[in-house]
Amino acid sequence: MRLSTMLSERNAPLISCEFFPPKTDKGEANLWRCLEELQVVQPSYISVTYGAGGSTQERTKRIVLGIKEKTGLSPVAHLTCVGSTKEQLADLLNDYAGAGIENILALRGDAPDGQAAFEAVKGGFSHATDLIALIRARGDFSIACATYPEGHPESKGGMDDDIRYLKMKQDLGATCAVTQYFFDNNVFFRFRDAADKAGVTMPLIPGVMPILNYEQIVRFSKMCGASIADVVYQKMQPLGDDLHAVRSMGVDLAVAQCQELLQEGVAGLHFYTLNKSASTIDIVNALKGSQG
Ligand SMILES: Cc1cc2nc3c(=O)[nH]c(=O)nc-3n(C[C@H](O)[C@H](O)[C@H](O)COP(=O)(O)OP(=O)(O)OC[C@H]3O[C@@H](n4cnc5c(N)ncnc54)[C@H](O)[C@@H]3O)c2cc1C
Repeated sequence: MRLSTMLSERNAPLISCEFFPPKTDKGEANLWRCLEELQVVQPSYISVTYGAGGSTQERTKRIVLGIKEKTGLSPVAHLTCVGSTKEQLADLLNDYAGAGIENILALRGDAPDGQAAFEAVKGGFSHATDLIALIRARGDFSIACATYPEGHPESKGGMDDDIRYLKMKQDLGATCAVTQYFFDNNVFFRFRDAADKAGVTMPLIPGVMPILNYEQIVRFSKMCGASIADVVYQKMQPLGDDLHAVRSMGVDLAVAQCQELLQEGVAGLHFYTLNKSASTIDIVNALKGSQG
């Protein structure tokens, strides 16, 4: 189903789960098991990332098509501008359209390892806005985009810049924006209010990161510009490397965060699963329980 239809016909907030394409057979077996397990919470869609540096193009495509063929779940294919010309991106979009894939999360992507900053290839695109325009011109995909309530690490003009480009993404044809994860909901609410004032009417879907390993999240957060909220630090720090306790606290923190987001009327929740299903299932079940 198209994302635009899912959003317009929803009678409850969308639940989406993000996976990355595994590199090994074992990792892939785990992914299909996770998707099977997730059926219990009926995700609205499963999104599949496109590896840093555009390195997983074939694996992303294979997993996206596999989700459609094997699971009955709706896939959303991430696509970045990294390392591809406009023609190569158009070819990939043709493949997806031919296979009945209806939804693309359009991104610029990050610089490949060893390259200091993102550089468009000759004949390629510099920004997600260019890719969105290309996809929109075809008319056959629903398009999601990314946004950053705490600011994109490269954005020079602060929140105003991020909102200006978000509005541009909407005007070029994006249906919704999925956010970078954050732990302090007030950051998201401030960003959403400012986006609203700037004329952004498409839904902003919060990205939620269930913490499985605190040290790993501290590292990720430094790279992507997400801050560790005080409450997260205070609850996680004393747990040290007790991964069982960390996972359990990660679920509790995410449930509390999601409850507040739902009360504030978000159109959906996007879970960064890190290719694990248990925490997302626990969180969604707890949310359903708390809503009666
Ligand atoms: C939900 C989500 C999913 C993601 N999935 C992936 C993935 O699958 N694979 C992957 O490699 N990465 C992924 N990323 C990371 C993303 O690729 C990086 O954050 C990347 O640095 C920026 O991508 P973008 O699409 O936001 O780029 P852009 O929107 O192009 O923004 C990049 C920078 O340029 C500025 N900018 C934006 N538009 C313009 C414009 N028209 N003119 C001038 N400046 C502009 C912005 O302020 C920002 O600083 C994801 C991020 C999110 C939030």
